[in-house]
Amino acid sequence: MTEFGFIEHIRTSFATLPDNGFEGIGDDCAVLPAGTDAEGREEVLLFTADLLTEGVHFLRRATPARELGRKALAVNLSDIAAMGGRPVATLLSIALPRDAAGTWAEEFMAGYRELSERYATALVGGDTTRSESGITINVTAIGRAPAAHVKRRSTARPGDVVFAAGELGASGAGLRDILAGRLDTPLAAAHRNPEPQVAEGLWLGAREEVHAMMDLSDGLASDLGHILERSAAGAEIDLERIPVAAGSDLRTAACGGEDYRLLFTAAADAAEELAAAFRARFGRPVYPIGRITAGRELVWMRDGRPEPLDWHGFTHY
Ligand code: ADP
Ligand code: MG
Repeated sequence: MTEFGFIEHIRTSFATLPDNGFEGIGDDCAVLPAGTDAEGREEVLLFTADLLTEGVHFLRRATPARELGRKALAVNLSDIAAMGGRPVATLLSIALPRDAAGTWAEEFMAGYRELSERYATALVGGDTTRSESGITINVTAIGRAPAAHVKRRSTARPGDVVFAAGELGASGAGLRDILAGRLDTPLAAAHRNPEPQVAEGLWLGAREEVHAMMDLSDGLASDLGHILERSAAGAEIDLERIPVAAGSDLRTAACGGEDYRLLFTAAADAAEELAAAFRARFGRPVYPIGRITAGRELVWMRDGRPEPLDWHGFTHY
């Protein structure tokens, strides 16, 4: 079974159980209505969990513990940002083999604390255990958002412009460097140090013209597929407009994982003004890379014509 086949199996076999008010499996976070905030706005809580396993998600000899501590948190904050939320707290569960229980664990926590401080998130619980084989880390992050600001994968509309909120492919190229033993390149550093777009996600969440949003963890080819599937839509992506990070290449930008840039769709008539306002606010561009269609396929376009490419995303599974 593939990763997504397994998740789909879980989703359908648990669908008949009570949801207890949650919007459950299928988006970057589970969403729970949480009453009204001080200004009387409906609020929600957001929940997300991610797992990092030694040998699958990271190589210990190639990853300083402090950077891994930052990354374990960053990838979860990215999922909160992807829904338009503000991260507020995390739970950290960690299984440590004997040879990682001392300095390694301290350094890991120093990195985790650094990013917790930067984003003002509390560490409110978790679990610690010994491992017989390799390090395993699970982070659960909790966020909150005004209900009206929450952006889902399922709300893209035909005609929307598809945007990437940053350049793509640095992380995928960095992983190649790491696997080839080149640990000190800027791309390898980018792979180990993703920066979650928390401020950007909050800002985009507050914009009504932004319809669907998610974060790019498995690569554009795969992740845009999730928006299309959940929105029952298609897309045309212009290959020449995909923003390729310096030192990377087009295919890695389209298919490589772990860039953790936001991917969103916005109403076409507001797209230009939105892009200008984003640049004014953040001093960086968002990149229009194509549009949502009424079809059901992701179509790669070159110079306005479909280009048949068998490009897929990246999976650890
Ligand atoms: P992301 O890349 O944003 O973390 P995924 O593609 O990993 O999201 O997961 C897709 C959806 O499936 C999410 O809603 C996630 O919470 C859910 N999911 C993944 N694994 C499991 C699992 N083992 N049990 C229940 N839900 C899961
Ligand atoms: Mg995500």
